[in-house]
Amino acid sequence: MEELRALAKLALMDGAASAHEAELRDLPAKIEAMRADVQTLETLLSAERSQIDEAKALRDERQKDLQAKVDQLGAAKSKMSKASNLREADSAEREVEMTRRAIKEREEEVLTIEETLEKKSGSLGEREKQFEEARSILEGEAAAAKERLEVVAKERDEVLAGRDAVVAQIPKRIVKRYERLRTKPRHDAVSFIYTDGTCRSCRMALPAQLFIEVQRGEEFHECPQCRAFLIHESFVPEVVEKRADADAGDASEAEA
Ligand SMILES: [Zn+2]
Repeated sequence: MEELRALAKLALMDGAASAHEAELRDLPAKIEAMRADVQTLETLLSAERSQIDEAKALRDERQKDLQAKVDQLGAAKSKMSKASNLREADSAEREVEMTRRAIKEREEEVLTIEETLEKKSGSLGEREKQFEEARSILEGEAAAAKERLEVVAKERDEVLAGRDAVVAQIPKRIVKRYERLRTKPRHDAVSFIYTDGTCRSCRMALPAQLFIEVQRGEEFHECPQCRAFLIHESFVPEVVEKRADADAGDASEAEA
């Protein structure tokens, strides 16, 4: 019976620590996911910056080309004025015409690039703002999480203080089975049995004979369905108290 009590105590301890364990696992994962999102924003941001740099380089090149065409037009015009015959005059005029057209095309091109640049700079500014916001939220959350994790780890350690001593009171094979059951997510490793004789873990009504043996508490029993260790609540005052509190809560809820 002492061993049963020790196992019950172990299960209660681990149960109390489970919320802490979950938080210790989930909170860092949440922060990491946020960090990955911020990283993605940063990548997008640098891609946009390099697009803008490329557009600027293209604009500079086109502007240089435009200037060359303007110089060319001046030369063509002076050729036209110096033409000594009709053939030379015609050819110079054609060159002036062609150069004028090329200048117009280049000017339009430069204008289009300028417009694109303006638009892109606007969206870059927007994205930079988003990024800064996301980064500052992340920094705040990460700092808060760090503090929170220290508190939770301390609380968990307090809840689990003396666990080794409790484990030492339980036969090794039972501890081994308990630890294995604990890794199964769907059912409890230890099922506390109330007066109704139902397994708390899987809701199965225990066979009458088994229920009687569980009430005696002379040895370890397991649920035929979910394999949880069965411990009658009468051996565990904490469970009776907890249930009384819960019942009182239900009753006052029903009254309200
Ligand atoms: Zn069960």
